[in-house]
Amino acid sequence: MEQATWRVRSIGLPTLNRYCKKCKQVAEFECSEMFRVNAQRKMLDVWLIYKCIECGCTWNAPILSRVRVSAAQDDDLAGYTENSPDLVANHAFDFQLLKRLGAEVNLPPYVIDGEALPPGENVLLLIENPLNLPLRIESVIRKGLGCSKRHFLNLVERKVVSCRDGIDLTKAKVGASIELVVLRQQGL
Ligand SMILES: [Zn+2]
Repeated sequence: MEQATWRVRSIGLPTLNRYCKKCKQVAEFECSEMFRVNAQRKMLDVWLIYKCIECGCTWNAPILSRVRVSAAQDDDLAGYTENSPDLVANHAFDFQLLKRLGAEVNLPPYVIDGEALPPGENVLLLIENPLNLPLRIESVIRKGLGCSKRHFLNLVERKVVSCRDGIDLTKAKVGASIELVVLRQQGL
């Protein structure tokens, strides 16, 4: 069986919806890509700064609270101080953390890097989602194949697209990665 890999790549960082004190309503906040670091008496606090798109009002998302400076990795401490893009991404894509902090996280726009499925071949298709974006399999397949919801449901019903793990492809999320079987002979 032929193999193909699709890789989900985010374009930009997720924005958040949360209550803005100045706008006095729920507003969209974008990541400033900057941390606020406070190290006092051997205790470290780190926030990731978000800005309301409407009014510029800031919200500091607590990333580390009252952590012993000695317990924080030296590399990380330098990274927070220097606003390391990797560290920013680590936290800005931590959907669970941001949800716990009361923010609604918006899915960022994304593209799928990878080869087109070889025509006339059955394909073992690996979908990689390294940032663990909360994407439904349906969304990625539809985007990758450029097909409608109705077409997608038809493909699943006819088992042209299936998953060995028996996952319900109409409901499940991609997770960090998933492997699908695409039967090209049956027509797409
Ligand atoms: Zn605002």
